Amino acid sequence: MSVREVRVALGARAYPIRIGGGLLAAGDWAAEIRGRHVLVISDANVAPLYLARVEAALAGHTLGRLILPPGEREKTLQRFAQALEALAELRASRDATVVALGGGVVGDLAGFAAACWMRGIAFVQLPTTLLAMVDSSVGGKTAVDLPQGKNLVGAFHQPSAVIADTDTLATLPPRELRAGLAEVVKYGAIGDAAFFAWLEANVDALLSREPAAIAHAVETSCRHKAGVVARDETEQGERALLNFGHTFGHALETDGEYGSLLHGEAVAIGMLLAARLSAALGLAPPQDAERLQRLLVRFGLPAVMPAGHDPAQLLHLMRLDKKSVSGALRLILWHGIGDARIVAGVADDAVLDVLSR
Ligand code: ADP
Ligand code: ZN
Repeated sequence: MSVREVRVALGARAYPIRIGGGLLAAGDWAAEIRGRHVLVISDANVAPLYLARVEAALAGHTLGRLILPPGEREKTLQRFAQALEALAELRASRDATVVALGGGVVGDLAGFAAACWMRGIAFVQLPTTLLAMVDSSVGGKTAVDLPQGKNLVGAFHQPSAVIADTDTLATLPPRELRAGLAEVVKYGAIGDAAFFAWLEANVDALLSREPAAIAHAVETSCRHKAGVVARDETEQGERALLNFGHTFGHALETDGEYGSLLHGEAVAIGMLLAARLSAALGLAPPQDAERLQRLLVRFGLPAVMPAGHDPAQLLHLMRLDKKSVSGALRLILWHGIGDARIVAGVADDAVLDVLSR
């Protein structure tokens, strides 16, 4: 299969996103790493599957490795400290590179370690989940969680390349694949009605991981993400649209102590709540919320609020979300499929109402 390339146009810090089957083993990406020291960070599910081909591609470098236990619960300051200690042990200098092999958890943590080691060293993303390929590996947001909330400590630090080897998706658990599809749907929902329609026509191909369909979905998603990041790297404006469904979603994740729902699942429910709120406020036709619901359900994503959440508590958590400015609720809503907007000053009652349905 051919390699697709999307560039993130950030001047001197521009970088490529390469998408295709077999990229890790082909190893061209490793030739671009200039310094001697490379720390590969991965997790205990991914490393047995893909670390060997990554280390083979990096032969000739002085290699360190840090294999973390899998899961969002490991995205902690303690694990971050371990990554820095691994760099110290490797005697990594300013020209060292951190390579993240795994999903969003590994990418966020490894990126933050790269951002902080000697005030910032090079960093290569090798995403192995659909979610990381289409979202978290692109754009330079790096972070770890605190008990008080997700991603509260972090930095903007762009990678020098993103290599999405779509062959790695073959081993991804189905639930993780579906969660990644929620973020793919998001790009259609916020800014590309034609892509949304393409997704509706390709549900089966995507769920059965047909390489051409997966590659098209990843490429289109990355094109959108790269465009937004190039225009608004640090989220002063437009980049906030990528948080469609996320203020609701983060509240659901935090309230569930990030155990019960995967991020993509929480985002699926969150997008639906945002669409319903948009309809309730008269911003968008209610049929568009229904169309979104049908697509998410066909992708096997949850489309109803899980039981046991208190609407008032969720609203409280939404206010704490770092996207809200000084307590006033600022939400990403839509005028319909493909047309998301930032809406400030949404009334509490309207939010509580959709949360109680
Ligand atoms: P995300 O990318 O959704 O943020 P994680 O980094 O937590 O999520 O990865 C989700 C789960 O999938 C983790 O348990 C991780 O170890 C596992 N995983 C990641 N990539 C693969 C893969 N290609 N094959 C099998 N399991 C994988
Ligand atoms: Zn997300």
